[in-house]
Amino acid sequence: MDQIEKFLSQYPFDFEHLDSLVGYDSQNFKVTTIDGQAFVLKVDQLTVGFADSVKKENEILLYLKDKIDFQITYPIKNIHGKFETIVDNKIARLLYFVHGEFWGDQILNNDQLNSLGSSIAKTIIELRKVDVGIIALKDQSWDLINLMDNIGLVNFVQDIEEKRLILYFFDQYHQFVSPHHKYLRKSLIHNDFNNWNVLMDKSHVIGLIDFGDMVYSAMINDLAIAMSYALCTSKDILEDSKTIITAFNKIIALKSEELDVLYLLIAGRMITSLVNSAKGKAENPDNEYISVNAKLYKALLKKWIQINPIGFKKTAYEACDIQYNSNEQQKNKIDQIRTDHFGSNLSLSYEEPIFMSSSAFQYMYDLDGNTYLDAYNNIPLVGHSHPLISKAISDQVRILNTNTRYHYTELGDYANKLLSFFPSHLNKVFFVNSGSAASDLAIRLAKTHTQREDIYVLEEGYHGNTQTGIQISHYKHSKKGGNGRSKNIHHFPLPKTFNSEHDAEYFIDDALKRIDKYYKEKIIPAAFIAEPISGCGGQVPLPPSYLSSIYEKIKSYGGLCVSDEVQTGFGRLGSHFWGFEMHNVLPDIVLLGKPIGNGHPIGAVVCSSEIADSFDNGMEFFSSFGGNPVSCRVGKEVLNILESEQLQRRAKEVGQYWKDELHKLQQEFPLLADIRGSGLFIGIEILEDNKPGTRLANRIKNKMKNNFVLTSTDGKYNNVIKVKPPLCFNEDNVDHFCLILKKCCDEIKEVN
Ligand code: PMP
Repeated sequence: MDQIEKFLSQYPFDFEHLDSLVGYDSQNFKVTTIDGQAFVLKVDQLTVGFADSVKKENEILLYLKDKIDFQITYPIKNIHGKFETIVDNKIARLLYFVHGEFWGDQILNNDQLNSLGSSIAKTIIELRKVDVGIIALKDQSWDLINLMDNIGLVNFVQDIEEKRLILYFFDQYHQFVSPHHKYLRKSLIHNDFNNWNVLMDKSHVIGLIDFGDMVYSAMINDLAIAMSYALCTSKDILEDSKTIITAFNKIIALKSEELDVLYLLIAGRMITSLVNSAKGKAENPDNEYISVNAKLYKALLKKWIQINPIGFKKTAYEACDIQYNSNEQQKNKIDQIRTDHFGSNLSLSYEEPIFMSSSAFQYMYDLDGNTYLDAYNNIPLVGHSHPLISKAISDQVRILNTNTRYHYTELGDYANKLLSFFPSHLNKVFFVNSGSAASDLAIRLAKTHTQREDIYVLEEGYHGNTQTGIQISHYKHSKKGGNGRSKNIHHFPLPKTFNSEHDAEYFIDDALKRIDKYYKEKIIPAAFIAEPISGCGGQVPLPPSYLSSIYEKIKSYGGLCVSDEVQTGFGRLGSHFWGFEMHNVLPDIVLLGKPIGNGHPIGAVVCSSEIADSFDNGMEFFSSFGGNPVSCRVGKEVLNILESEQLQRRAKEVGQYWKDELHKLQQEFPLLADIRGSGLFIGIEILEDNKPGTRLANRIKNKMKNNFVLTSTDGKYNNVIKVKPPLCFNEDNVDHFCLILKKCCDEIKEVN
């Protein structure tokens, strides 16, 4: 305080210290003269080159004040005729105080948005005319061109959901903006066109302050920065974006290459601010100013990820009257190639299939600009396009990608990590490239180990698309186009107790009797294979005691028990990491696939050393791609993310919330006859007049898709709506899903 007083004694004024204006790294004071005139005193540490840059800034402000049709701060001379006063390694300036209401205290109306867009452009028009001087050399981490300099600050962010979105946008920016940024049109820009630097009356921008962050950078950054703040309070983000962009474009015509990166530039500003405020908060927990916009940005970031980048681009092009090339041609071509070069049993989902363009976490974006909430795809377990998965792939593929005939650390690292999730007797792993390859290999292992041929399977089960896979999949070989049961395959009825004349006891008893009967007939099991919750059977949880009774019996006859965890594994069930744990059984062999690589093709078979030893009968086991270093890095990263983002816990919480909400809906719509499953692996069985509602389920699925929510149907009668989203699915997503489901059920009720 003494030092500041010393500065102030050089000016002919009294002063008043205002804490509320204290900023990040500079100190600001409001100074009022006896006759009521107000000024801002800015005091900064004098670092190398700073005095020159302050001088330049003052020069620019003095130029701008006469050119711009709203007020800006500009400096006043001290008694020595200087704009800057240097004392004790500090530099002080006095600027005229701009009066008015901050934009931050208002929710912008259309006129204000319009005025904001044109004010940014008008400011840039003038800033482009000034001699940039030393400011061109300023290297600022808040300059979007340097966005990636901030990535190290991500670790200050505590909230898991916020952190993953921030990382995603860093990754997207790095890939799709950084390489182009330096080629965008440059100008001196304000670089902090935010809600606490702009003053507004009811319809116009009336003032702009704080030019301390000015840099020479891409001109469009100022639009992106202002939009990032303006859209925080938007009711309709695209509509408001259009208003601001249109207004800006009337004064400076924007180019398509600028509009192409605007979506990510806006995200870029949000994440710069969020990581810096997280750092600031960690260092100064009591400074309220630091996180002044963080809450708003956090909420906007969650909305931003729900905006299809193509949809945003289309809006921006429309605002600037730039022709957006229709996707129809592209879509026709994709469709034609599919017809020309693929068998027609390569099926597509939905009556009107979707042309996908990109995806992020639990959202998928189509070519038309729509965003789908993905309540269905279980493969992207930790989320579509997770930045850490992308990083693992791209980092490793640049270093080494080879096969298991060489030593490399990634194989062992991954195996150690993966096996740490299993009971200790399951200590060997074989890596392959798909669930089908895993089930095929598992059956080979079982047959080799037991020297038997017979396999027991559940009806409606699906385990893979290879010859063996189809043979052990009742869901395929017993349906349309299938060749029926092979000689060594034996079915047990799926123990589905809902809407069945049989209870769990019956199914257990029936299965045990069958095993005994087979045994007497010399049909001795090599293995029994089942999923802990039957996915293709229609999300049917096996009743308690079912697996334990059968495992015991099978083992007593020397057979092996195989748990297919391709769909149920990796924490999806919430209460347990593996489905077999839910049933308190110890399988001999476990199959892994689908989510294991978050979409990267990995399959694995986990078994005991005894089984692996028997398999070592002289024939080499080799898979060209199984266990390659890239796959291993990815697989390990999936496990790391599951842990760091606590996704199993979230699956449990969100899954329970989802089931509770569905039960509420069930009161209103009895057609939602059964809600079952565990964690984020849920089935909704549809009945119509107490019979399987195949037609209704199909209508609901398609209606939901038309409302941009992805689900699927399955089960013996294809009347079960399947719900098994990426594990980052949150409570808001559940609310939205239920809202749309209700809407679809209402529509169906009206028609019927
Ligand atoms: N087992 C189960 C339970 C499955 O759901 C699937 C795939 N739907 C497979 C095995 C086969 O996996 P993939 O498609 O990767 O070959």
